[in-house]
Amino acid sequence: MKIIVIGSGIVGASTAYHLARKGAEVIIIDKQHEGQATAAGAGIVCPWISRVDDQDFYTLAKGGACYYPSLVSQLEEDGECNLGYGLVGALAVSEDEDELNIIEQKVRARRKENPEVGEVRRLSAEEARQLFPPLREDLQAVHVTGAARVDGRLLRDALIRGAKKHGAHSYTGIAKLELKNEKVIGAYVNDELISADAVVITAGAWAPELLSPHGIDIPVEPQRGQIVHLQLPDQDTSKWPVILPQSSHYLVSFDDSRVVVGATRETGSGFDYRVTAAGLKEVLHEALHVAPGLSEGTLQEVRIGFRPAGQDILPYLGPIPALKGIVIANGLGASGLTMGPYVGSLAANLAMGEDMEIDITAYNPLRNRLNVN
Ligand code: FAD
Repeated sequence: MKIIVIGSGIVGASTAYHLARKGAEVIIIDKQHEGQATAAGAGIVCPWISRVDDQDFYTLAKGGACYYPSLVSQLEEDGECNLGYGLVGALAVSEDEDELNIIEQKVRARRKENPEVGEVRRLSAEEARQLFPPLREDLQAVHVTGAARVDGRLLRDALIRGAKKHGAHSYTGIAKLELKNEKVIGAYVNDELISADAVVITAGAWAPELLSPHGIDIPVEPQRGQIVHLQLPDQDTSKWPVILPQSSHYLVSFDDSRVVVGATRETGSGFDYRVTAAGLKEVLHEALHVAPGLSEGTLQEVRIGFRPAGQDILPYLGPIPALKGIVIANGLGASGLTMGPYVGSLAANLAMGEDMEIDITAYNPLRNRLNVN
């Protein structure tokens, strides 16, 4: 079976990898737009502390977190070991004990269902600073050991290389769908028509440009995120836990003396690929408020990414009945590095016509349109 994957951020890279491992003939087409969400993502993989209570959201988020160890093993089998993945744990931090009590209760309840949550412990402010030295002196924590972080760029590249080791081919350029009698027959890239039995559309925030000429309206919009990389010379940050304050901001550490702090969530930004004064101020203010010890860090880089934000919290995953042969995987919003590898594996199953391990009805790509009518 020949399958084209349009877009190779985390979702497309994972889809292509899983398809290629299943023996499909895989063609990856990616434009490498500025602002690819995967290239900017912080990389927190921790659904356990999430404030979102939607069960269908949680199914994909926990599925994503639980799938990582198996994906890491598959990639290792293929000789791909450099993923920036680490089970470093997370600290939910606050100065308010009641707030931490509620978080602790919720995480302990989730642990009953999923032992992958790991150990759950309350830490004094001093204990918390032993794990993350730059932390403010009055912040206590709930420590959850089953949280991870991943480098989206490294994982994306490893998945694409892995797919190629299983025979996939890639093109750089903008893809356009080619249809005949309401069935997809392939895609154009750089004026060349590539035929295929199926096309998986993992084009992130750019998907509407690809689909709307064919009358398919997936309400995905770019939500800009600005995120700052700080270098802490001579500090071993490789085992520092993810820090989750009680806001949408966070701090994530990587192996190379680097702490990533973010991020803005700018709904309505369009594809405006810029670092703004207000964005940078917001990110640094929030980070230094939580971790004043970072103030001497070197500002190494500011990344900008466009999250594919749907009309509600749930991703879009499924076929489009009116256009045979198309599978959509999109709308992963702020959780795509958590869910993306797993969603990619599900999209690969769908494209191959295989049984699904979960019920995907809630993720119907046309649900918002159906609700309106
Ligand atoms: P993208 O990564 O945007 O990839 C889409 C690709 O499709 C692009 O390469 C584009 O060039 C290509 N494309 C589009 N149209 C075409 C076309 N017609 N032809 C060819 N190619 C095309 N998630 C977490 O789980 N944890 C986090 O800590 C986290 N932090 C984040 C921080 C920031 C600042 C941002 C921006 C996002 C964060 N996310 C996080 C969310 C996560 O990064 C995204 O949900 C995820 O990367 C989306 O992946 P994607 O593959 O759907 O889209």
